[in-house]
Amino acid sequence: MFADVDRDIVADLYLSRSGMEFLTQLVDGFGSRFGGSEEERRASEFIEEQFRQAGADRTYRESFTCPGWKRKSTALTVTAPVDRGMDCIALPYCPSGEVEAPLVYLGDGHPQTYEDRKEDMDGAIVMVTTATPSFYHRTMHRGEKLGRALEAGAVGFIWMRGEPGGLPETGSARFGRACEVPAISVSYETGHEMLRLGSEDELRVRIESSNEVYETTSYNVVAEIGGSEDSDEVIIVGGHYDGHDISQSAADNGAGVAVALEALRALAPHADSLDRTIRFVAFAQEEMGLMGSEYHAGQNEEESVAFMLNLDGAGRGDRCQLVLQGWPEAVRFFNDMTHEMYEADMSVGDSMSLYSDMYPFARRGIPAATLRSKRQGTSGAPRGWGHTYWDSLDKVNERFLQMDAARVARIVARLASMDELPLHQKTQKEMGETIRELGFDLVLRYEGRTVPGEENC
Ligand SMILES: [Zn+2]
Repeated sequence: MFADVDRDIVADLYLSRSGMEFLTQLVDGFGSRFGGSEEERRASEFIEEQFRQAGADRTYRESFTCPGWKRKSTALTVTAPVDRGMDCIALPYCPSGEVEAPLVYLGDGHPQTYEDRKEDMDGAIVMVTTATPSFYHRTMHRGEKLGRALEAGAVGFIWMRGEPGGLPETGSARFGRACEVPAISVSYETGHEMLRLGSEDELRVRIESSNEVYETTSYNVVAEIGGSEDSDEVIIVGGHYDGHDISQSAADNGAGVAVALEALRALAPHADSLDRTIRFVAFAQEEMGLMGSEYHAGQNEEESVAFMLNLDGAGRGDRCQLVLQGWPEAVRFFNDMTHEMYEADMSVGDSMSLYSDMYPFARRGIPAATLRSKRQGTSGAPRGWGHTYWDSLDKVNERFLQMDAARVARIVARLASMDELPLHQKTQKEMGETIRELGFDLVLRYEGRTVPGEENC
């Protein structure tokens, strides 16, 4: 049924350089697109124009205000048993301040280690690595590791990269607000040097940081194609275009936006056959706390969103994964679809995450998934080069952009044309239960975020 459309999509995308050209212009023309910055605002205008030229029927930008952050200066000093300056960077939303305290190192931050070192953490600066805890059943995000340290009374936080390479790893300390204590990052090597200095005597460190938290305006970019009188349903394909101030943010997530743009370009000539409206959204302010997607989901609660597909980490490597966000009953449907599409290097599963732009939709009960490349370059770290200085364009492979754009376009063409989708909205109560079953209510509380069903409003 989709043979002709598939052939057009694949031929269009595999013979086109436009995805890589877009990504090159985005990265070289607009820098890191850090949330709330002038670069982010200018990039939003550029992306809207690109959406329009790719054949969107309608485009617009939606603005929202939120707390921004500006990096100024940060210093880390070992003060005992020796006096030595160390390389570091502040994590976004690190406040201005100065603290000096004993350093407590928790390794990969297994919850049992937090429990065992509870008393030591009170009044200390806590250092923990970015690594996923060994012997634990799930990953632990930076926000949870920080939140657990704060609960125990930590007065400062050091996020140590878990892999060698001399790179600190950035990422906002809190979701959309200033952190309570100075929070910084050091490389694997710097972390280990400090630990060696303190191997015999008590290790004391001082963090001095000066930064600015201010109110700023950011812009989501929206483009729509398709839709008919027979359906009022919308399918959202989104991905964040903002990046980290220290890098080009090419793979995370310039590549994801390039995939969305190219999928739009390939689908536009077939818009008449799309019964449901396809809405492409380039989200702002994801890295600072999912604020663009939260705004968009909150603004459009009345409309009927049949499905939300997020593209964060798409197009940056092979081993494509479509990860459902609390809809295990839909795994079979998508598995059958990828089989029918003859997509060999693609797997489907269900594993909910609180850390990208699908979450504000999923938590509202909208069927959601994220599509990403599982294998992403050669850094050896779980995030690849993401969140470091060297998430740069030179690591992006054009073929992977084309492959994921074709996948997304073909999936969306199917979802937009089927009579009935076996994807059902869930109630707040159901989502609250899913989140509690996964233990995410605890995680959200550590991170200072609201738990679905427990909002005051
Ligand atoms: Zn991302």
